[in-house]
Amino acid sequence: MKCAKCNENLKKADYKGIKLDYCDDCQGIWFDRDELRQVKDKEDEFLRWVDIDPWEDEAKFKISESSKSCPVCEMPLYTVKYDGFPVEIDLCNVCHGIWLDKGEFDKIIDYMKEKVEKEKLLGYLKDIGEEFVEIFVGPERISDEIADFLVVMKLFEYRLLSKMPAISQIIARLPG
Ligand SMILES: [Zn+2]
Ligand SMILES: [Zn+2]
Repeated sequence: MKCAKCNENLKKADYKGIKLDYCDDCQGIWFDRDELRQVKDKEDEFLRWVDIDPWEDEAKFKISESSKSCPVCEMPLYTVKYDGFPVEIDLCNVCHGIWLDKGEFDKIIDYMKEKVEKEKLLGYLKDIGEEFVEIFVGPERISDEIADFLVVMKLFEYRLLSKMPAISQIIARLPG
């Protein structure tokens, strides 16, 4: 597979059981749909109630054709911007893989952690009462788990891929 950006051969990495393709040159990362699916089966109990949606308002998507191309399909990727989300994501409208440039993944993790902790997690914990928090090993422990790569990837996958139908519709309406 070739890098979406600089056309170098991508290298494979195994990160906690998830295979990633990355570019040694520009340090971009490719997540293909199947790789993201592997995340789905992990940490399920924990995440069932984590209700954040960074892309809630589909009208806020701004999508344009990217100069990068899909490492798998070799079709142009689409750049997805969303008001308030810190990163522009490049995705493939055919295979639904996602390309992240250097540093973008870290920004996504920070963003998701902040959202979960400040808005939803705290609200949720307040709703269900303190007993649950104690049973569930305490809020510090929960924060640590949310920081975990797999959990963040899973949230990211759930929320973004659930928007794919809307994103594909917008792409279908693009001129050209
Ligand atoms: Zn590259
Ligand atoms: Zn593709």
